[in-house]
Amino acid sequence: MLLGPPGAGKGTQAQIIAGRLGVPAISTGDIFRANVSGETELGRQAKVYMDAGDLVPDEITVAMVKDRLAEPDAKAGFLLDGFPRTIAQAEQLRESLQELGHGLDSVLELVVDEDELVRRLSGRRMLVDGEWVQREDDKPETVRHRLGVYREQTAPLSGFYDSQGLLTRIHAIGTVDEVTERAMNALGQGGSAATRQSDGPTGQQSAG
Ligand code: AMP
Repeated sequence: MLLGPPGAGKGTQAQIIAGRLGVPAISTGDIFRANVSGETELGRQAKVYMDAGDLVPDEITVAMVKDRLAEPDAKAGFLLDGFPRTIAQAEQLRESLQELGHGLDSVLELVVDEDELVRRLSGRRMLVDGEWVQREDDKPETVRHRLGVYREQTAPLSGFYDSQGLLTRIHAIGTVDEVTERAMNALGQGGSAATRQSDGPTGQQSAG
């Protein structure tokens, strides 16, 4: 699981790390955005909260994640990005995983200071139909609200998982590659593909 405030780079890292581990990255933000674009009932319900920078209610979010985790590609493992975001979601996740016979292996918290987050989010643009657009919820006033929501509702998850011995904090500053390497090391999967090949028999190769 990747934990961290908006703008910490969870989405980017989730794609890369999940690719390296050969598991799907499950991003609740991406699933909500796909539903908003597809104008589904779920998207219609979620949009109001998303545009305001608020969390979508737990009942809606948890049911959606439960369905996603029951899909065949998640059987052999998955990387969660942006879920859970409240202690209640984390508790429901624990139950769902128990039912599915899974457990959490590791929680990586991406740590970035708040000034840097505001700078990153305000400058962020997404390519949609060949045009660079700003996400509605990346507008400056919404960004500040989202960071407040994170501090109040999501940050307590850091202690929640730390007390279970699952948490590793990673400095998410520097290049994308540097952050990925820190994350892979924390997962005991360190060493880029190039490094692994040149390591030879005496190299530091990670197990698994
Ligand atoms: P993200 O792309 O992860 O920043 O998510 C964008 C928005 O989707 C958030 O600001 C929330 O409105 C909503 N969202 C994503 N994940 C969750 C979640 N686990 N619980 C509630 N709302 C969520």
